Amino acid sequence: MPDLVPGGARPTILVVEDEIPLLTLLRYNLEKQGFRVEEAADGEEALVRVAEAKPDLVLLDWMLPQLSGLEVCRQLRRRPATRDLPIIMVTARTEQQDTVRALDTGADDYISKPFAMDGLLARIRALLRRSGSLATRGMLTFRDLTMDQDAHRVSRNGRPLHLGPTEYRLLEFLMQHPGRVFSREQLLDAVWGRDIHVEPRTVDVHIRRLRKAINGEGELDVIRTVRSAGYALDVEDA
Ligand code: CA
Repeated sequence: MPDLVPGGARPTILVVEDEIPLLTLLRYNLEKQGFRVEEAADGEEALVRVAEAKPDLVLLDWMLPQLSGLEVCRQLRRRPATRDLPIIMVTARTEQQDTVRALDTGADDYISKPFAMDGLLARIRALLRRSGSLATRGMLTFRDLTMDQDAHRVSRNGRPLHLGPTEYRLLEFLMQHPGRVFSREQLLDAVWGRDIHVEPRTVDVHIRRLRKAINGEGELDVIRTVRSAGYALDVEDA
Protein backbone atom coordinates (compact mmCIF):
# COMPACT_ATOMS: atom_id res chain seq x y z
CA MET A 1 0.00 0.00 0.00
CA PRO A 2 1.25 3.51 -0.67
CA ASP A 3 1.93 5.89 2.23
CA LEU A 4 -1.39 7.65 2.10
CA VAL A 5 -1.94 11.07 3.53
CA PRO A 6 -3.53 10.47 6.95
CA GLY A 7 -7.28 10.74 6.57
CA GLY A 8 -6.89 11.22 2.83
CA ALA A 9 -8.67 9.27 0.12
CA ARG A 10 -6.86 6.79 -2.08
CA PRO A 11 -5.20 8.71 -4.91
CA THR A 12 -6.88 8.28 -8.28
CA ILE A 13 -4.80 7.66 -11.36
CA LEU A 14 -6.23 8.18 -14.81
CA VAL A 15 -4.54 5.79 -17.21
CA VAL A 16 -4.81 6.91 -20.81
CA GLU A 17 -3.75 4.01 -23.00
CA ASP A 18 -5.13 2.47 -26.18
CA GLU A 19 -3.30 -0.85 -25.86
CA ILE A 20 -5.82 -2.81 -23.87
CA PRO A 21 -3.44 -5.52 -22.55
CA LEU A 22 -1.13 -2.81 -21.21
CA LEU A 23 -4.07 -0.92 -19.74
CA THR A 24 -5.18 -4.09 -17.94
CA LEU A 25 -1.69 -4.72 -16.63
CA LEU A 26 -1.38 -1.15 -15.39
CA ARG A 27 -4.76 -1.28 -13.68
CA TYR A 28 -3.85 -4.54 -11.95
CA ASN A 29 -0.54 -3.21 -10.64
CA LEU A 30 -1.83 0.19 -9.60
CA GLU A 31 -4.80 -1.28 -7.76
CA LYS A 32 -2.49 -3.72 -6.01
CA GLN A 33 -0.60 -0.66 -4.71
CA GLY A 34 -3.83 0.78 -3.31
CA PHE A 35 -4.56 3.36 -6.01
CA ARG A 36 -7.93 3.93 -7.62
CA VAL A 37 -7.78 3.62 -11.39
CA GLU A 38 -9.80 5.38 -14.07
CA GLU A 39 -9.34 4.58 -17.74
CA ALA A 40 -9.48 6.36 -21.05
CA ALA A 41 -8.65 4.73 -24.37
CA ASP A 42 -8.09 7.86 -26.43
CA GLY A 43 -7.20 11.51 -26.09
CA GLU A 44 -10.73 12.90 -26.36
CA GLU A 45 -11.99 10.55 -23.70
CA ALA A 46 -9.08 11.55 -21.45
CA LEU A 47 -10.13 15.20 -21.57
CA VAL A 48 -13.75 14.30 -20.83
CA ARG A 49 -12.71 12.12 -17.88
CA VAL A 50 -10.53 14.82 -16.38
CA ALA A 51 -13.31 17.38 -16.75
CA GLU A 52 -15.78 15.03 -15.03
CA ALA A 53 -13.58 14.24 -12.07
CA LYS A 54 -10.06 15.46 -11.67
CA PRO A 55 -7.67 12.58 -10.91
CA ASP A 56 -4.58 12.95 -8.72
CA LEU A 57 -2.31 11.96 -11.58
CA VAL A 58 -2.55 11.21 -15.29
CA LEU A 59 -0.49 8.47 -16.88
CA LEU A 60 -0.63 9.56 -20.47
CA ASP A 61 0.40 7.55 -23.50
CA TRP A 62 1.91 9.65 -26.26
CA MET A 63 0.59 7.68 -29.26
CA LEU A 64 -3.19 7.73 -29.02
CA PRO A 65 -6.08 7.71 -31.48
CA GLN A 66 -8.00 10.99 -32.00
CA LEU A 67 -5.86 13.34 -29.98
CA SER A 68 -2.19 12.59 -29.24
CA GLY A 69 -0.96 12.47 -25.67
CA LEU A 70 1.11 15.54 -26.40
CA GLU A 71 -1.99 17.48 -27.44
CA VAL A 72 -3.93 16.26 -24.39
CA CYS A 73 -1.09 17.44 -22.18
CA ARG A 74 -1.03 20.81 -23.91
CA GLN A 75 -4.77 21.28 -23.46
CA LEU A 76 -4.69 20.27 -19.80
CA ARG A 77 -1.92 22.76 -19.13
CA ARG A 78 -3.91 25.52 -20.79
CA ARG A 79 -6.85 25.12 -18.41
CA PRO A 80 -6.47 26.76 -15.01
CA ALA A 81 -8.12 23.79 -13.24
CA THR A 82 -5.56 21.34 -14.55
CA ARG A 83 -2.50 23.53 -14.90
CA ASP A 84 -0.79 21.72 -12.00
CA LEU A 85 -2.26 18.28 -12.53
CA PRO A 86 0.60 15.76 -12.26
CA ILE A 87 1.21 14.15 -15.65
CA ILE A 88 3.58 11.34 -16.56
CA MET A 89 3.98 10.84 -20.29
CA VAL A 90 4.46 7.31 -21.57
CA THR A 91 6.33 7.19 -24.80
CA ALA A 92 7.42 4.46 -27.18
CA ARG A 93 9.91 6.88 -28.58
CA THR A 94 13.28 7.06 -26.97
CA GLU A 95 14.88 9.89 -28.87
CA GLN A 96 16.15 12.57 -26.54
CA GLN A 97 14.32 15.16 -28.64
CA ASP A 98 10.92 13.59 -27.97
CA THR A 99 11.40 13.37 -24.23
CA VAL A 100 12.41 17.01 -24.23
CA ARG A 101 9.24 17.81 -26.19
CA ALA A 102 7.14 15.92 -23.64
CA LEU A 103 8.61 17.96 -20.80
CA ASP A 104 8.34 21.20 -22.78
CA THR A 105 4.64 20.56 -23.28
CA GLY A 106 4.23 20.44 -19.54
CA ALA A 107 4.54 16.77 -18.57
CA ASP A 108 6.10 16.45 -15.12
CA ASP A 109 7.94 13.27 -16.00
CA TYR A 110 8.09 10.65 -18.72
CA ILE A 111 8.86 6.97 -19.06
CA SER A 112 9.76 5.07 -22.20
CA LYS A 113 8.15 1.82 -23.32
CA PRO A 114 8.98 -0.86 -22.55
CA PHE A 115 9.29 0.04 -18.88
CA ALA A 116 9.70 -1.90 -15.65
CA MET A 117 6.59 -1.72 -13.49
CA ASP A 118 8.64 -0.99 -10.36
CA GLY A 119 10.28 1.99 -12.01
CA LEU A 120 6.95 3.39 -13.11
CA LEU A 121 5.42 2.91 -9.65
CA ALA A 122 8.38 4.68 -8.06
CA ARG A 123 7.91 7.66 -10.38
CA ILE A 124 4.20 7.77 -9.69
CA ARG A 125 4.79 7.76 -5.95
CA ALA A 126 7.50 10.42 -6.20
CA LEU A 127 5.25 12.71 -8.21
CA LEU A 128 2.28 12.16 -5.88
CA ARG A 129 4.48 13.02 -2.92
CA ARG A 130 5.57 16.23 -4.58
CA SER A 131 1.98 17.21 -5.29
CA GLY A 132 0.89 16.33 -1.74
CA SER A 133 -1.41 13.41 -2.61
CA LEU A 134 0.87 10.98 -0.81
CA ALA A 135 2.48 11.52 2.55
CA THR A 136 6.17 12.23 2.36
CA ARG A 137 8.39 9.67 3.98
CA GLY A 138 8.66 10.74 7.58
CA MET A 139 12.05 9.29 8.47
CA LEU A 140 15.51 9.90 7.10
CA THR A 141 18.53 8.02 8.34
CA PHE A 142 22.24 8.09 7.68
CA ARG A 143 24.44 5.78 9.74
CA ASP A 144 23.59 6.67 13.37
CA LEU A 145 21.77 9.90 12.41
CA THR A 146 17.98 9.93 12.35
CA MET A 147 15.66 12.69 11.23
CA ASP A 148 11.94 12.50 11.93
CA GLN A 149 10.57 14.96 9.41
CA ASP A 150 7.03 14.94 10.79
CA ALA A 151 8.10 15.63 14.38
CA HIS A 152 11.01 17.84 13.26
CA ARG A 153 13.41 15.94 15.49
CA VAL A 154 16.99 14.89 14.87
CA SER A 155 19.03 12.45 16.88
CA ARG A 156 22.38 10.79 16.69
CA ASN A 157 22.88 7.41 18.27
CA GLY A 158 19.67 8.06 20.21
CA ARG A 159 20.87 11.41 21.55
CA PRO A 160 18.56 14.33 20.63
CA LEU A 161 20.27 17.08 18.66
CA HIS A 162 19.37 20.75 18.72
CA LEU A 163 19.70 22.45 15.36
CA GLY A 164 18.91 25.95 14.20
CA PRO A 165 16.34 26.18 11.36
CA THR A 166 18.97 26.65 8.66
CA GLU A 167 21.12 23.80 9.98
CA TYR A 168 18.02 21.62 10.07
CA ARG A 169 17.15 22.33 6.43
CA LEU A 170 20.76 21.86 5.40
CA LEU A 171 20.97 18.49 7.13
CA GLU A 172 17.59 17.44 5.75
CA PHE A 173 18.75 18.18 2.22
CA LEU A 174 22.03 16.32 2.73
CA MET A 175 20.23 13.35 4.26
CA GLN A 176 17.97 13.19 1.23
CA HIS A 177 21.06 12.82 -0.97
CA PRO A 178 23.66 10.96 1.05
CA GLY A 179 27.09 10.62 -0.52
CA ARG A 180 26.49 13.27 -3.16
CA VAL A 181 28.79 16.27 -3.30
CA PHE A 182 27.09 19.66 -3.53
CA SER A 183 28.76 22.96 -4.31
CA ARG A 184 28.06 25.96 -2.09
CA GLU A 185 25.88 27.40 -4.85
CA GLN A 186 23.83 24.22 -5.11
CA LEU A 187 23.32 24.20 -1.36
CA LEU A 188 22.29 27.85 -1.44
CA ASP A 189 19.71 27.11 -4.14
CA ALA A 190 18.35 24.09 -2.34
CA VAL A 191 18.31 25.37 1.23
CA TRP A 192 18.03 29.14 1.02
CA GLY A 193 16.19 29.36 -2.30
CA ARG A 194 17.17 30.80 -5.63
CA ASP A 195 15.74 34.25 -5.07
CA ILE A 196 17.59 35.06 -1.91
CA HIS A 197 20.99 36.60 -2.26
CA VAL A 198 23.39 35.05 0.20
CA GLU A 199 27.15 34.89 -0.01
CA PRO A 200 28.43 31.37 -0.77
CA ARG A 201 30.64 31.72 2.32
CA THR A 202 27.51 31.73 4.46
CA VAL A 203 27.24 28.03 3.66
CA ASP A 204 30.60 27.43 5.34
CA VAL A 205 29.37 29.13 8.49
CA HIS A 206 26.27 26.95 8.68
CA ILE A 207 28.18 23.79 7.86
CA ARG A 208 30.50 24.61 10.77
CA ARG A 209 27.51 25.05 13.10
CA LEU A 210 25.93 21.86 11.79
CA ARG A 211 29.11 19.88 12.42
CA LYS A 212 29.32 21.27 15.94
CA ALA A 213 25.72 20.28 16.60
CA ILE A 214 25.82 16.75 15.25
CA ASN A 215 29.36 15.51 15.89
CA GLY A 216 29.71 14.58 19.54
CA GLU A 217 32.87 13.78 21.44
CA GLY A 218 34.70 10.93 19.72
CA GLU A 219 32.10 10.58 16.95
CA LEU A 220 32.93 10.44 13.26
CA ASP A 221 32.47 13.62 11.27
CA VAL A 222 29.66 12.70 8.86
CA ILE A 223 30.12 15.79 6.70
CA ARG A 224 32.88 15.54 4.20
CA THR A 225 34.52 18.67 2.84
CA VAL A 226 35.52 18.17 -0.78
CA ARG A 227 38.23 20.66 -1.63
CA SER A 228 37.19 23.21 -4.23
CA ALA A 229 33.96 21.25 -4.81
CA GLY A 230 31.77 21.53 -1.74
CA TYR A 231 30.24 19.26 0.85
CA ALA A 232 28.69 15.82 1.13
CA LEU A 233 27.03 13.79 3.82
CA ASP A 234 29.62 11.09 3.84
CA VAL A 235 32.35 9.61 5.94
CA GLU A 236 35.97 10.17 5.08
CA ASP A 237 37.67 6.92 4.14
CA ALA A 238 40.22 6.02 6.74
CA1 CA B 1 -0.56 3.95 -27.80
